Amino acid sequence: MGYRIPEETIEKIRISVDIVDVVSEYVQLKKQGRNYFGLCPFHGENTPSFSVSPDKQIFHCFGCGAGGNVFSFLMDLEGYSFSEAAINLANKVNIDLSDYEQPTAVSDKNNEASKMQEAHELLKKFYHHLLLNTKEGQPALDYLTNRGFTREIIDKFEIGYALDSWDFATKFLQKRGFRPELMERAGLLVKKEDTGTFFDRFRNRIMFPIWDHQGKTIAFSGRVLDKGQEPKYLNSPETIIFNKSKTLYNFHQARLAIRKQQQVVLFEGFADVIAADTADVPNSIGTMGTSLTDEHVKIIRRNVESVVICYDSDNAGVDAALRASIMLGEAGCYVRVATMPNGMDPDDYIRKYGAEKFKNDVIGASLTLMAFKMQYLRKGKNLQDEGDRIRYIEDVIKEISSLEKAVERDHYLRQLSSEFSISLDALKTQQLQYYKSERKKRDNFSSNRNNTKAKPAVSKHLLKAYHNAERYLIAYMLRSRDIAEKIQDQLQAEFNIEEHRAIVTYLYAFYEEGFEPDISTLLTRVHDESLKRIVTDIAMMSIEEEVSDSVLSDYVKQVLNHKKMSMIKEKESEQLEAERSKDYLKAATIANEIIQMKKALI
Ligand SMILES: [Zn+2]
Repeated sequence: MGYRIPEETIEKIRISVDIVDVVSEYVQLKKQGRNYFGLCPFHGENTPSFSVSPDKQIFHCFGCGAGGNVFSFLMDLEGYSFSEAAINLANKVNIDLSDYEQPTAVSDKNNEASKMQEAHELLKKFYHHLLLNTKEGQPALDYLTNRGFTREIIDKFEIGYALDSWDFATKFLQKRGFRPELMERAGLLVKKEDTGTFFDRFRNRIMFPIWDHQGKTIAFSGRVLDKGQEPKYLNSPETIIFNKSKTLYNFHQARLAIRKQQQVVLFEGFADVIAADTADVPNSIGTMGTSLTDEHVKIIRRNVESVVICYDSDNAGVDAALRASIMLGEAGCYVRVATMPNGMDPDDYIRKYGAEKFKNDVIGASLTLMAFKMQYLRKGKNLQDEGDRIRYIEDVIKEISSLEKAVERDHYLRQLSSEFSISLDALKTQQLQYYKSERKKRDNFSSNRNNTKAKPAVSKHLLKAYHNAERYLIAYMLRSRDIAEKIQDQLQAEFNIEEHRAIVTYLYAFYEEGFEPDISTLLTRVHDESLKRIVTDIAMMSIEEEVSDSVLSDYVKQVLNHKKMSMIKEKESEQLEAERSKDYLKAATIANEIIQMKKALI
């Protein structure tokens, strides 16, 4: 590393930050006993095996083995270097690190990305100023005011105005030392192919900044002022800082509300998000002109379980809502779908019927996924027609079969039964038949899959006795300096497992430097990824508060005996070898040695 933040500053950051707060920004955590649990952000899962210990200030995943302290959490999740993680954490707890903000050894790519962000940040502020304070911005401000945008909304969403000029941004950026080539790659400027000159991408448009999930500006969407100008919305292209398939608009501002309400409302575009926010639905986020991706789904699921999808109610919107709801459902989300009168989008609806009605009749009256599917299946069918009606009922029964809860299946079968005056028994029989044939297919499929599935990384109950003994010893040594010193006297670093030898070596040095037991601090000194994982894994083992000397010496015995046993085995094969080559004298000597060694087994 080219530069270093002093150790005492790192320590200051570490004790000021609570790992639970930091992880909570990414993962929805629930307290269970002393620890918090949630879905692991490092591997896909539907049942939580990711735990955070506030006492130890570490995280650990029992599924994939990821683990570490608050620094490693940010490094692994955000791809930060150690210094970047430290700077990020220092900002959260107001520790001034401005002396270290200019790392000398950052890669060019990081450097370019931060330059791009800086340019976006500056332009955003300037666009905002132009909108609010200048004659040129007045028509744009009037337009927004007429559309119901208050000053508060304009400020919250940092809306601005780009001048009707070909080179305003070009000059603005150049004057501040941003290279035009880089600004072109940032999507802010466009290069004229024939002359090689640069000009502004956004001209005479209302500018909506797009942020990443930490609130940094990474792109813009510009809306036309004059009718007839195309396109209506002009978005930044994808760049190294703007990846549409990972970006959810307004996520950084909505995060708290999402946590509080344990629910997120998902829209198709940023205009709907802003409208919903003004209608007092602050837990609103939106995709940016792409359909929902697996990456979006992962981010959502990590943060919340309950999702209301609120897409346009035209055909394309309804199809997209169905697709999104299936994806989110498969990821383990509890999905509802909000619907509006035919052809409307959320923005139109709020404008026409007002915030109150949107909140109650659209979001509040959202349909369960099943009810939405039933409505969807009706589309294009004439239920007065017998053929269509039978097809509809069959389609619905198929969907009902996929419901996990018997109560739910019963509920919708009853609904069908009463709507079409069919006996409930007949529907149940048909549903059961369908369910059985599906299950057969599924079982075949999953047994094929299980064959090829890799074994879970850690299967602790299968570990050998000496291996377990070493883990227990280290677990106690991590918690007590006294125990560590005792074991050091008896074993030094003579553990059988190589990683354990490395860990206790770190640990002895740690205590010798005068540190008190503290996993999280210890982890800042362990730089090897796999060692870190093992340390956190061991630290999360549940062990007794008090441990007797006799229990400890039992563990020590197992560790030593294993070593001796493997030496005896070695001797035994030497003995066999000597017998084979008819060197009986040598064989007898070895046999004698083996007897002595066996006697020395404790
Ligand atoms: Zn995991």
